[in-house]
Amino acid sequence: MKSYEQNYINGKWISSDGGTPHQVINPATEEPCTNIVLGSAADVDAAVAAATVALKSFSQTSREERLALLGRIVEEYQKRLPDIAKSLASEMGAPVGLGMAAQGPAGLGGFLGTIEALKGFQFSEQHGPNTIMYEPIGVIGMITPWNWPLNQIALKVAPAIAGGNCMILKPSEECPGNAAILAEIMDAAGVPAGVFNLVQGDGPTVGAAMSAHPQIDMISFTGSTRAGIMVAKAAADTVKRVHQELGGKSPNLVLPGATLEEVLPPTISGVMINSGQSCIAPTRVLVHRSQKADAITLVKNIVSGQEVGDPMSEGAHIGPVVNKAQYDKIQDLIQSAIDEGATLETGGTDLPSNVNRGYYIKPTLFSGVTPDMRIAKEEVFGPVVTLMDYDDLDQAIAIANDTEYGLSAVISGDPAEAAKVAPKLKAGMVIINNWGPAPGAPFGGYKQSGNGREGGVFGLKEFMEVKSVSGLPA
Ligand code: NDP
Repeated sequence: MKSYEQNYINGKWISSDGGTPHQVINPATEEPCTNIVLGSAADVDAAVAAATVALKSFSQTSREERLALLGRIVEEYQKRLPDIAKSLASEMGAPVGLGMAAQGPAGLGGFLGTIEALKGFQFSEQHGPNTIMYEPIGVIGMITPWNWPLNQIALKVAPAIAGGNCMILKPSEECPGNAAILAEIMDAAGVPAGVFNLVQGDGPTVGAAMSAHPQIDMISFTGSTRAGIMVAKAAADTVKRVHQELGGKSPNLVLPGATLEEVLPPTISGVMINSGQSCIAPTRVLVHRSQKADAITLVKNIVSGQEVGDPMSEGAHIGPVVNKAQYDKIQDLIQSAIDEGATLETGGTDLPSNVNRGYYIKPTLFSGVTPDMRIAKEEVFGPVVTLMDYDDLDQAIAIANDTEYGLSAVISGDPAEAAKVAPKLKAGMVIINNWGPAPGAPFGGYKQSGNGREGGVFGLKEFMEVKSVSGLPA
């Protein structure tokens, strides 16, 4: 059993002022795996006070000093990859192999990408008579989810440091260990006291206190659209900047005549990986009616061949989903698709046959899904693929856009044809013949998938204020 019962505030591990003990449940064993203390509003006040003091000097540091600091964080992070992988496996069920190959490195990539962006960043640029200066925003509150936790944390922490800001991080209470390890990394890298602060806790207490806090200048939130709306409302009275990376319901538009054996395996893997708990998982697979039967055969093979198993063992299997609430929600959505008349090709409700406990979901494929079904509209966040068919490309584009979300969209098929479709999709990221955007791409969505972008130069600008100065001497 791991214990991370203190917060990291002003460069020290300190006990919560009025917090509540909490146990994280291992989703594979259904037994407690980590002790934390859910923090309080008083802990947030202490962290904000530390960040406010640290800001005075950290906001004045040079590009070179911040680059050196980020470089030291990268070195320390690399040493802790195995610890990160084990922590994720026990708390959120991502297999250790995925932790070492993807989950942990994704966070590292956030730091490395920011270093590249910072190297060439223009802190000052001339626009006609105006000199535009990019300056730190100030004290930034960060609220993050459990599904790709260090990726989402790094995409906030790294650019905030690069921009000369100070910060308070509240990670998900479902998966707090990796954030505690990151605080240890920050400490080992010599991040100045108060620049990075960690307060463990839940959304309604710590997250809400941060959102409404008058001395926090910006909230950067990643999570569900439901919680993102609550954060924005709580932040409104203090008119702070609110950056939101929210949910998704991404289409995989398979162009008519696409070579299915080439385009489907890599994109379906984007639904299976991490047990389907990826905001950009391309779950709505749209195929031309003439290719429906072939697509069903191919995708059924992939999905039914997806192994499920213990996250602590090595292998290409997927683990359980994060907790009982997610398990129950996914079971309900699978049942709703059956009840609403979709065809269950493989998978379905209940546990996979090789396990007798844990929050494991059977990899599932439905065909004959129509846009009005719940399974076509609601974010599943599980290893569930839905196949929908279309008669012509205009109809396919309309179905792809028929969602309240607009995070990402996959187009599968001839890249030259895909290039004509890309401008017609209402999504922040369009990915051709793959499911994940290329490194450095601005990450974020249209519509109810959020506001703002993370990653690379766009992500750096998100954490900076824009000042125009007119009338400077030539
Ligand atoms: P939640 O929205 O439930 O939680 C996200 C974070 O918000 C957690 O730290 C949570 O705290 C906190 N929170 C919850 N309620 C409040 C509140 N009222 N005020 C302040 N903070 C609050 O999402 P999940 O953790 O379940 O993550 C899954 C969701 O995240 C999916 O919808 C997914 O699509 C989305 N996501 C979006 C990404 C993107 O970049 N667009 C990337 C990854 C995920 P706690 O749970 O500890 O109480």
